[in-house]
Amino acid sequence: MKPCLTVDIGGTKIAAAIIESGKVLRRQQIATPSSSQPEEMDKALEELLTPFLDDISTVAVASTGIIDDGVLTALNPLNLGGLNNYPLRAVIEKITKKPTTVINDAQAAAWAEYQTLELNMVNMAFITVSTGVGAGVVINDDLLIGANGIAGHAGHTLADPNGPICGCGRRGCVESIASGTAIGQAGKTYFGDNCTGEMVFKHFSQNDPNATDIVNGSAKAIANLIADLKMVLDIELVALGGSVGLAPHYLELVQHYLAQQPSPYQTKVQHARCGADAGLIGVAHWASKIR
Ligand SMILES: [Zn+2]
Repeated sequence: MKPCLTVDIGGTKIAAAIIESGKVLRRQQIATPSSSQPEEMDKALEELLTPFLDDISTVAVASTGIIDDGVLTALNPLNLGGLNNYPLRAVIEKITKKPTTVINDAQAAAWAEYQTLELNMVNMAFITVSTGVGAGVVINDDLLIGANGIAGHAGHTLADPNGPICGCGRRGCVESIASGTAIGQAGKTYFGDNCTGEMVFKHFSQNDPNATDIVNGSAKAIANLIADLKMVLDIELVALGGSVGLAPHYLELVQHYLAQQPSPYQTKVQHARCGADAGLIGVAHWASKIR
């Protein structure tokens, strides 16, 4: 049988690849169309996927946003905002004429991370702290997707009722405090209007007290999120990824704040292992499981 074509749709890039025996082959990548017109996305997908069509039997897609029965909805209007109710699975099936599975990208990455863990572990969460804060959870040896595809969107749980307005419209989400975007935003007070998350981390590495406060605030919000997930889901491990999650000393800070919680709230936190292709690898594995 021909292999599965996997696709990862993010806010900045769309990647396609063939995964065989867990290895990423023939990877192609394009920029996500800057226009939010659905026709632009149709065209971009057709261009990217057409060269693979003779060599594949199925398609598996990991995409940013809420994926409800193959339809994409953007929780954050700034991220693929023009694509509300975009019929992603139907579009890809029309291009490829192949059966297509679609799930959220952080859910897919969680499933990829889960495959790397010790066999006796059944409950875990993957949290990516990057431009936004995404997450996916595996419960009882199964990826939690939810009735409407929303399960795992832990970046949009409450960190501070008086915090900044989040991209999703709610006030004080974890993402509005902990994400790279939020870190850059907070840095503008001290480092100028063009401040980015990377700039705050540069100052943090030089022990600047303001940058240290901002990064500590992010790590504390993630530690509290992990404590909440432990109490709700009894997770045994958190895999922490993303450009902020993998930044030097960030994991240690999260562990430091989590260690200040009472012991039932604590759980093991380690770096994610699958890297930038976690979404591709995870959705390929997930699609082969459910087919
Ligand atoms: Zn939010």
